[in-house]
Amino acid sequence: MSTQISRRQFLSVLAGSSAAVLGLGLVGCGSSSSSDSSSSSSTASDSGVAGKKFVIAMDTVYAPFEYTDDQGNFVGIDVDILNAVAEDQGFEVEINSLGFDAALAALESGQADGVIAGMSITDERKKKYDFSDGYYETYVSIAAKAGGDIKSLDDIKGKTVAAKTATIGASCAESMKDEYGFTITYFDTTDLMFQDVLTGNSVVCFEDYPVMAYGITQGNGFEIIDTVKGDYSAQYGFAVKKGENADLLAAFDAGLADIKSSGKYDEICAKYLGE
Ligand code: GLN
Repeated sequence: MSTQISRRQFLSVLAGSSAAVLGLGLVGCGSSSSSDSSSSSSTASDSGVAGKKFVIAMDTVYAPFEYTDDQGNFVGIDVDILNAVAEDQGFEVEINSLGFDAALAALESGQADGVIAGMSITDERKKKYDFSDGYYETYVSIAAKAGGDIKSLDDIKGKTVAAKTATIGASCAESMKDEYGFTITYFDTTDLMFQDVLTGNSVVCFEDYPVMAYGITQGNGFEIIDTVKGDYSAQYGFAVKKGENADLLAAFDAGLADIKSSGKYDEICAKYLGE
């Protein structure tokens, strides 16, 4: 099965979802934060990372940002952006696909030099990590099994919801649990979290909108019943441990600016999200 979807398919899912009813638009490529401070490309010789190899930790299953395709290749927007930036800046990467929480732990313990994992840039995280410029816009969606009884937040009182450990979706669920009267079960991976909803243990899950919207286009069996912006809107960024690997971070920003101005960034998004 092809992992690519057309823009038409993607938009038709959005049109059918309550996100569209709520008047929320498509997020992603066109809306990533601009970092075009310079129009001339900067190369590795400027940034001191040329020829060096960095260990980059990633999530495991987080389509369309990182996942294993039908041929067993580890692919996705994050993977392609990282490789394009590394090529542009002349450094090498060793990708460790660990899971989101585990990737952060690897960064903190020094086992990884950087993390790219659909990781939202938040003020809280800025206390522990230094982030690149944003490369993709996100917010939280709340999704239930399609065609089921759960149609709005009013239907989840007294029930269990699923969230992914250490994510912004989990923080969002925690901020709402008293008001809406639900309990939270935590999962290490997005696929286990989705499974818990589909089998009916949890009634909804809290997941980033781009990931859920993409999953719906792939027939994951969910429908979005609500979205949460405000505090839960963020850009994805590449992260290093605070105060460390400043050269790598600068090189990532320089490479990101280059691939945005060259059109490579748009090409990567189109490859996974369609034209
Ligand atoms: N964007 C979310 C966060 O940063 C989830 C990331 C992920 O699950 N890989 O918390």
